[in-house]
Amino acid sequence: MNKDEKISYLEKNLDSLSERLKKCDICPRECGVNRFSGEVGYCGVGADLIVYTAFAHYGEEPAISGQNGSGAIFFSGCNLKCVYCQNHKFSHSQEGENLTEAQLATIMLCLQEKGAHNINLVTPTHYLVPIMRALLIAFKEGLVIPIIYNTSGYEKKEIIEIINDIIDIYLIDMKYMVSELSNMYSHARDYPVNNQKVIKLIYNKKPNVFNGALLEEGVVIRHLVLPSHFEETIRALSWVKENTPDVLLSLMFQYQPYFIKASSFQQIDRRVNVSEYNQIKDFLEDLKLKGWVQDLSPQEYLAGVHFDPEFSALLNRSNKDNRYEKD
Ligand code: SF4
Repeated sequence: MNKDEKISYLEKNLDSLSERLKKCDICPRECGVNRFSGEVGYCGVGADLIVYTAFAHYGEEPAISGQNGSGAIFFSGCNLKCVYCQNHKFSHSQEGENLTEAQLATIMLCLQEKGAHNINLVTPTHYLVPIMRALLIAFKEGLVIPIIYNTSGYEKKEIIEIINDIIDIYLIDMKYMVSELSNMYSHARDYPVNNQKVIKLIYNKKPNVFNGALLEEGVVIRHLVLPSHFEETIRALSWVKENTPDVLLSLMFQYQPYFIKASSFQQIDRRVNVSEYNQIKDFLEDLKLKGWVQDLSPQEYLAGVHFDPEFSALLNRSNKDNRYEKD
């Protein structure tokens, strides 16, 4: 879809998408709460749009961050809430700033104006409706850079089908392959089945398109290797090879028990060790997949939260006058 088609598609479909928040079934939790009347479901979010921060992110995959950074917007709350979440400060809470959809649109336009290669919506699922409304405003005001849906992967296929034409790139997690683990660490027994359905859908609908070294359209599957769960990573890599062999894979070794809740689980209360790392790398090499692999570095450096003071200022500004202006 070109920009005008996206605008008319959103104008036609936003109201029916919005209706779903009255008995919320936006994600597989299907809480059924009326988010317009102050009720909140598992994600902890009602009708308000809460953003924690926004900045140029230089730590995403090279085809996403490029030279100028990815225009990352981090939303508060989450529909998954893993016990080891590195963003737990705002994903397990509603810490952040309440914004209007117009303010969010202005942030997107600011990021574009400052040279960001794309708009990177981080953990967007539970804010799908206000984000789409903000995109409608931003498209009308000149937003043209690719839109990235950066998700934990706990999604419903029917919802992704609705928004697929608006999204250019998916950065989608494949966190778990077996429901015992998804239940234990994320309270989502049905994560694997929903995650795999959605990944197959977007893989078939969104072939990778590059503009030079930058990804313009496509799918990146991210798998975070968990300590003590070597078999789970082998299952994930084997599934990718069998079902989505041409996808871009991002294999991440940055796990740390950042969040206090992880310490309740002895198996994940440490980093991935060298032996696990080497075994997984050996297995991966034989598969001949495309993408990126993190080193086992003491520093997280590829994906994750890195704060850029200049772009954080986009949010700080609103503390003073509660509005956003392009510089
Ligand atoms: S988006 Fe939130 S309220 Fe809606 S179904 Fe998912 S967790 Fe429940």
